Formats: sequence, structure tokens, C-alpha cells
Amino acid sequence: MKKVGIIGAMELEVEALKWAMQIRRRVEKASMEFLEGTLNGTETVVVRSGIGKVNAALCTQILCDCFEVTHIINTGVAGSLKNEINIGDIVVSTDALHHDVDVRVFGYPLGEVPQLGCLAFPADDRLVQLAVNCCKEVNPDIEVYQGRVVSGDQFISDKGVKNRIIENFQGFCVEMEGASIAHTAYLNHVPFVIIRAISDKADDSAEMDYPSFEKAAAVHSAALVEHMLPVI
Ligand code: SAH
Repeated sequence: MKKVGIIGAMELEVEALKWAMQIRRRVEKASMEFLEGTLNGTETVVVRSGIGKVNAALCTQILCDCFEVTHIINTGVAGSLKNEINIGDIVVSTDALHHDVDVRVFGYPLGEVPQLGCLAFPADDRLVQLAVNCCKEVNPDIEVYQGRVVSGDQFISDKGVKNRIIENFQGFCVEMEGASIAHTAYLNHVPFVIIRAISDKADDSAEMDYPSFEKAAAVHSAALVEHMLPVI
């Protein structure tokens, strides 16, 4: 039977899902609260991982080990890496990579974790298509893009840094958890998708824009996740 693990880094990214859920069990592990129950008629576990790649990776591993989830969805906000992707739009991951990994000295391409044999972790095609189709129904006024999500333990708010990330990785959006969720799901052979609504442009305007737009963006992403659950 399917059981979907839903991860948001911050409370505002999962609070609407928690409200909408019929909760059966609350489990605390690694200082995170995992809520198990049904959401929109679907078996789910909803959790706030905390911010950054370490929190997100260990949260994903707990979902695999202790809850045996069959699918993983990461919902949240991100900075745009493309001019045409505006605040409020949604990016659905085709794949995800770590933009802050650099072992080029031993011949690995920038971003590749050594001895893994894979630069970017591919999202599940079916989940990607479901997310894109559902987005058009739930958020008809919002543009939805499919592309690469890049992650690192940095908030990107500088045009120079942003441009370097774009040149090196051709990402569609940047955030701080997706690649480690993807990496962990990949190692556990669990299909995943990352869904991110744009809260800022990851440049010098990000510091101003982010606080104004994070809430609305987070809510749009969560609404899309809730809607797609029954069709997974
Ligand atoms: N408001 C928070 C800090 C947020 S850090 C606080 O004060 O506690 C930014 C969060 O949003 C991360 O979870 C990250 O995944 C995402 N994010 C949005 N825009 C980003 C950007 N430009 N660069 C990196 N992460 C970004």
C-alpha cells in the first residue's frame, strides 16, 4: 500500500497539511515530530525537518526506516535561477544536486559526491508529471516549470554567487534541502519529487523579497501536494 512521506523544512511549509490531516500517531525522533495519518484520503507522514541539508537527509532516512514510506515529496520555497521564473511560480524537480560539493581535485565534476557514480539524483517521472498536471488544476494562475533543483547550506542572495551557480549547474531554483532529500531517497530506492514555490530571485533583492513572499509561496506548494496525493 502506498504511504507518502511529506517533508517541509519550515513550519509554514507544512502547517496547512498538518491542519488538514487526520492524525493517528505522533512520533518524536531526532527532535522532529512525525505525524502519521491520512491526508486527502491518503496514508501520509508529514514532518518538519528543519533547515539545511543535514536535517533534511536524516529526516528522509527516518521516513524510510521507521515509517517505510513508498514515496517522498518535499514541499517548500526556493530562490529562482531563471529570469522567466517569477516569485509565486512553481518548480517541479526533474533532478537535484548539491551545488556546494567540490571534489574536482580528484577528477570529479563540480557538485558530484565521490564514489556515488551520479552527479544529479533523478526525480520520479510519474510524480513529476502528476505534480505538473495537478498544479495546472489547483493553481491555474501560477506558471509551473520542470527542471533541476540545486541545494547547498547557504541562502543565496548575491547576483555573483547566483550567476556562478547557474553557469555551473543549469538549475531552475536554489534552496537548502532538496538535494539531500533526493540523495537519501536515491540511496534507499524510494521515488521522490521536490516541489518548490519561488519566494525570491536569489540575488541582491532576496533579502527584501523572501520575508514578504515566503508564506504565500509555501501555501501554494502545500496545496498542490495535498491535491496530488489521491492520484499517486
Ligand atoms: N526565515 C528563516 C530562514 C530561512 S532560510 C529563519 O529566519 O529561520 C531559507 C529557506 O527557504 C530554506 O529552507 C531554503 O530551502 C529556502 N530558500 C528560499 N530562498 C532561498 C535562497 N535564495 N537560497 C537558499 N535557500 C532558499
